[in-house]
Amino acid sequence: MKIASDPWPVGEWRQHLAAAVRDLDELLELLELDAEILGPGATAQACRRFPLRVPRGFVARMHPGDSNDPLLRQVLPASAEDEEVAGFTTNPVGELGLVRGDGLLSKYHGRALLVATGACSVHCRYCFRRHFPYEDESPDDRGFADALAAIAGDATVDEVILSGGDPLILSDHRLTALADNIARIPQIRRLRIHTRMPVVLPQRVDEALAGWIAAYPLPVVVVIHANHPNEIDDTVIRGLGALEAAGATLLNQAVLLRGVNDSAEVLEALSKRLFDCGVLPYYLHLLDRVSGAAHFEVGEDRALEIMDHLRARLPGYLVPRLVREIEGAPSKTAVD
Ligand SMILES: *Cc1c(COP(=O)(O)O)cnc(C)c1O
Ligand code: SF4
Repeated sequence: MKIASDPWPVGEWRQHLAAAVRDLDELLELLELDAEILGPGATAQACRRFPLRVPRGFVARMHPGDSNDPLLRQVLPASAEDEEVAGFTTNPVGELGLVRGDGLLSKYHGRALLVATGACSVHCRYCFRRHFPYEDESPDDRGFADALAAIAGDATVDEVILSGGDPLILSDHRLTALADNIARIPQIRRLRIHTRMPVVLPQRVDEALAGWIAAYPLPVVVVIHANHPNEIDDTVIRGLGALEAAGATLLNQAVLLRGVNDSAEVLEALSKRLFDCGVLPYYLHLLDRVSGAAHFEVGEDRALEIMDHLRARLPGYLVPRLVREIEGAPSKTAVD
């Protein structure tokens, strides 16, 4: 049952973005939590390296007083981030060397990935891009022109993936100018947008965005990123409904995270909730081994056990593919 599918008024999302919580003490106060839950050590240092950023609507889906809330865990800087753990590096999937100055990453056959921006509306502590030198990799419009020329010159590419960062944080003007230029490249058949904004800042799906997707000349695939069923509240359902009504194909990718969603029950509920909003589960990623995120890692044996449970309880189309990103591999590597 869809609750509503009206998009938001144009531009309201900018206020929600500007109002995001960036102060750790304020976040704790909103959730009625004591600073002691952060544990000893250099949490402030963790914040300095990768600042806190959480939209208020996402905070509103957390349970006050619960320091183990699965949504809070994803955004709360932890002292464990400062620990050096063998095997965890600042460039775990080897992408740094592959992204060109204009943001183009030609790693996947047939698909060109464009790092459209380095910015995100939320900062997820487990993100492999937390060490990405975004300032260098966020192209200006001139850079997009170079990337687009390179894509146009490669006859094997028929899909462009807008990634980031979060491409939907771009203004409508920049986003539509970029996408309209992509649509003019004759061999491109699909546009894909990887974004967490419909989940963490659903107001982004406003009338302008929905109208633009509906009118876009190519099929649009939107891959959202939700890790836990609690992330999907009525505001998210409304935004996803608007995307679906605009004709977008909706998929979800999640990351398997210790203390967040490392249970068959949670992932089963996530798949069902996604389906209720018109979204099919696509990938379940094993954590990229990025330094500062070791405390989120779930072992491969446990991951396979969880997948067995999911297969036993869900129709096949609601079971995500368990994958891992391996440096140098031309695609994701299936784990099961
Ligand atoms: C895996 C991945 C891709 C390629 O995805 P496929 O669905 O395998 O084509 C693109 N962008 C990001 C960020 C990815 O993680
Ligand atoms: S790229 Fe995605 S996972 Fe990483 S911080 Fe941004 S929204 Fe979170």
